[in-house]
Amino acid sequence: MSLDSAIEWTDATWNPVRGCTKISPGCKHCYAETFAERFRGVKGHPYEQGFDLRLVPEKLAEPLRWRAPKMIFVNSMSDLFHDAVPDAYILAVAKVMAAANWHTYQVLTKRAARIQKLLNSTLSFAAKQPHIWWGVSVENKKYGLPRIEHLRKTDAAVRFLSVEPLLEDPGQLNLGGIDWVIVGGESGPGARPMKKEWVVSVRDQCRASGTAFFFKQWGGVRKSVTGRKLDGRTYDEFPNRVQYPVLPAGECLSLADKITTSCADARLVKVSSLPSLRLASAFG
Ligand code: SF4
Repeated sequence: MSLDSAIEWTDATWNPVRGCTKISPGCKHCYAETFAERFRGVKGHPYEQGFDLRLVPEKLAEPLRWRAPKMIFVNSMSDLFHDAVPDAYILAVAKVMAAANWHTYQVLTKRAARIQKLLNSTLSFAAKQPHIWWGVSVENKKYGLPRIEHLRKTDAAVRFLSVEPLLEDPGQLNLGGIDWVIVGGESGPGARPMKKEWVVSVRDQCRASGTAFFFKQWGGVRKSVTGRKLDGRTYDEFPNRVQYPVLPAGECLSLADKITTSCADARLVKVSSLPSLRLASAFG
């Protein structure tokens, strides 16, 4: 877990899975891939295997050991609902989030059909928890709008959209049942531009539907120059956050031990011994 995050809408990151494969145009300049590939082959580094997908069961219990309440972006360096992550492992991640409920979790995916399926079955206990926020990415109409429909059909207590990198006017969004929308432009070398009218359209739709709106950044090659003001102000809204009491230290440690031990059961041993996966991508 990283205790501090530079991402504007979270406090910390937790990565019980590392690595991913590209699935849609929003992935083209994936920051996680760029970061991870920098360390490929560096002996002993967490990203020694670059961006190859792999499970990190030794990280599973981390939020239980971190006792100061945080807003935690789950799998900032991967996608929890990637096809190669077994259901049993996703369930273990969800159990940790349900147990360490003094934190707020932000789970974001581009694999929307799978999040719908699991939140409405195996993960329904976690879907209903108000301290776990479930979101999908929306970069354009073709890929983004169907993801919103998958998310809307879940029983999640809190649903959000990450409209980033916004690559075109997304048009009319169905924000019924959506609690939070983040908008941002792409940043870094080769960043694709985002027009102001697209952002204004999403903001105004959020206003009309009573959805919390967070404007992350304009992006561009130098995002520190373009900043994050829209019409002269920042937008830093969040959904209502529930705050549960922190468990006593002894209980936290014993729960963490139980989770770590349960990782050694038959199913997860198999999972943790999976070779890392490097898959071909159509969006490289
Ligand atoms: S889904 Fe997310 S983590 Fe995976 S390649 Fe795309 S942008 Fe990167």
